[in-house]
Amino acid sequence: MKGREVLKFQSEVKRLLDILVYSLYKNREIFLRELISNAVDALNKIQFEMLTDKYIEDRDIELRIDIKTDKDKNMLIVEDTGIGMTRKELIDNLGTIAHSGTIDFLKRAEKRKKGEELDLIGKFGVGFYSVFMVAKEVRILTKSFRKGSSGYLWVSQGGEEYTIEKSKKEKRGTRIEILLKDDAKEFLEELRIENIINKHSKFVPFPIYINGKPFEKKPPIWSQPKSSLKEKDYHEFYKYLTNFEEKPLAYLHLSADAPFQFHALLYVPDTSLEFIELFKKESGVDLYSRKVLIQKHSKDIVPEYLSFLKGVVDSEDIPLNISRESIQDDAVVVKIRKHITKKFLEHIKKIKKKDFELYLKIWKKFGRKFKEGIISDFDNRELLSELLLFESLNGGEGKFIDLEEYKKNFKEGQTEIYYISGESYSAIEKNPSLEIFKEKGIDVLFCTDPVDEFVLEHLKVFKSYPFKMAESSDIKVGEDKKKDDKELNDFVKYLKELYGDRVGDVRISTRLVKSACTLVNPENSPSIQMEKIMKMMNKDFEITKKIFEINPENPLIKKMQELYKKDKDSEKLKNLAIHLLESQMLREGLIKDLNEYIERSEKIMIESF
Ligand code: ADP
Ligand code: MG
Repeated sequence: MKGREVLKFQSEVKRLLDILVYSLYKNREIFLRELISNAVDALNKIQFEMLTDKYIEDRDIELRIDIKTDKDKNMLIVEDTGIGMTRKELIDNLGTIAHSGTIDFLKRAEKRKKGEELDLIGKFGVGFYSVFMVAKEVRILTKSFRKGSSGYLWVSQGGEEYTIEKSKKEKRGTRIEILLKDDAKEFLEELRIENIINKHSKFVPFPIYINGKPFEKKPPIWSQPKSSLKEKDYHEFYKYLTNFEEKPLAYLHLSADAPFQFHALLYVPDTSLEFIELFKKESGVDLYSRKVLIQKHSKDIVPEYLSFLKGVVDSEDIPLNISRESIQDDAVVVKIRKHITKKFLEHIKKIKKKDFELYLKIWKKFGRKFKEGIISDFDNRELLSELLLFESLNGGEGKFIDLEEYKKNFKEGQTEIYYISGESYSAIEKNPSLEIFKEKGIDVLFCTDPVDEFVLEHLKVFKSYPFKMAESSDIKVGEDKKKDDKELNDFVKYLKELYGDRVGDVRISTRLVKSACTLVNPENSPSIQMEKIMKMMNKDFEITKKIFEINPENPLIKKMQELYKKDKDSEKLKNLAIHLLESQMLREGLIKDLNEYIERSEKIMIESF
């Protein structure tokens, strides 16, 4: 038999242990949650392995978790009949950190100031190592389910190293013996232990025994009838599932028997998208078949754009022996996915109608995801379009409306849904293209999120009304009173020749009320914001030439027109006209070299004395 080996922890583990051993974290009790959660993982895994008929050590023993106390030895024991670990697995799993979340925790914890609380331990769940918050020494006796495995004993005091040696263990599974620190004796009290389990581990899907006595356990919440459950039950289960302290923003419990059987419990978390993206691996809904966990954090049972959801789907119709690779295309999975996606979106739509404040919270966190759905989920495009919210010209900054409300407030004769994009509400609000809309009281949707324009272009219409960019040259809003004015038309022609191919066209504006001029988009071309994004992605992308519109009622344009009448070759007029165009181009960020512009400005200034 090989003797005892002394091994060193990976340096990250060592750093983590340094933090945990001396931490004054007041919720130390979560160490038990973490150990039970590992036991559950190990039991889930053995259950999954047992679906195949390969050899498994002690195939017939009960799948259970035992918690035992030994007051004389100051020892708490957590034992499971899960997959166990081989020597290599002990080293790989407990001597190193594989978990990106834990590394992230480590970085944050090390940056924290002295005395500051480690409140992230609870949220991140630093896993097994959290046991060193309460342990002087930890001994793990484990035996893998693999054929012919022998038992191993792992021992550490949470310092720089640990030892491993072969050791006799009767049955498959893992036994963790915790020699408690002197100030952690509370964890030997049965009541305290029951209390912690009730708080954090109530929904564990395997029997737990405390000193041999079965701890009362309910059947999985998702399989119980809705009528027997209270909001509190749903919130407690959510906390068990996520470790999040905050209540979920919304949840949906679905059950069906035909044409396929399933239970689903879906939660909208009250946490930022960034947080979820950071832990992408941990987001997603857990997929069970007949109460056996088939895939944790499944990416297949809800569409990608809803992967921020937490929860459980359990179906008797998903074959138990399904391979993880083929889940996505399994016919039953596809049907359930479609069904719950639709039901979920309908549920959200109901919330929007009943409790707009709450919906706004959901929208602010996950609206981006609904937009993503419009692009990727053809079946639910219409439903998703009803979830869209925008700020608008008439509503003012901070007030969000949906497309239905926009439609309700159509002005007489209005046949298009107008939108305009820009960086912020205040930046868009000053756009001269909006002058005619303001005058006529026609509302315009403000697209401040760069993806909005993609989304609207994708939708094309809402309830058969087309979307139209307010800056597009062919909007049907103002009327052209001056189109027969010959002198004005001559002046326009003059400008057109002067500007050459710097613009697509020069036109008399029907949208300007006060401003002298503006640049608008040719029919069906994307907005300048969008074009700039395309240019960023592709250097060779040619920005579409804009159309220059002038307002004949504006005093500056009137003066220039007079000057033109007097002297068609005026150098001063030429400078003013170029300056007029370049000022607009500057506003749109279409001028890179400012030298000429500044030189001309100074010339115009000097002439004004
Ligand atoms: P996580 O559970 O997030 O993977 P932990 O630090 O809690 O991280 O556990 C690290 C790893 O140690 C687990 O992934 C698992 O492989 C192994 N492990 C821990 N406890 C057990 C156990 N009771 N049975 C089998 N393996 C375990
Ligand atoms: Mg764990």
